[in-house]
Amino acid sequence: MMGNNDSTQENAKAHFIDHTKNPDSPTIFDKILKGDIPCKKVYEDEDVLAFNDIQPQAPVHVLVIPKKKWKSFSNLHLAKDEVVGVYMKKVSYVAHQLGLDGPGYRVVFNHGEHGAQSVDYIHAHILAGRSMQWPPG
Ligand code: AMP
Repeated sequence: MMGNNDSTQENAKAHFIDHTKNPDSPTIFDKILKGDIPCKKVYEDEDVLAFNDIQPQAPVHVLVIPKKKWKSFSNLHLAKDEVVGVYMKKVSYVAHQLGLDGPGYRVVFNHGEHGAQSVDYIHAHILAGRSMQWPPG
């Protein structure tokens, strides 16, 4: 099958979270939030930080993280409605501020191995600047 050879699978594995590591150790996004690692910030307020993805998959590829940490989309249902509501509103606001409402964009949350999540800190990907494909692959 196309795109399913050994090296593709190795690359995919390298992208995933190593769950043998301490799940509570700070992630790259904890370090960015703390200011220990630089980022290209596009928006920040008391609730969220938004910055350019280091390996952009589209002309616009911004990550939006809440300042109060959630590890993944999968446990967001445990959060208070207000926490989830504020976060979702801010993702929408960042896209709006980036001028993407007209041309359109895609928001993605990856979870777990099948979702190809690689950072154990919830993040919304905002992808824009080109037409997206469906199914996403
Ligand atoms: P995911 O695969 O959904 O967990 O997405 C993690 C994203 O974080 C990937 O798109 C990476 O390119 C991105 N990323 C990893 N390290 C950094 C970094 N230091 N600055 C910005 N983006 C990063």
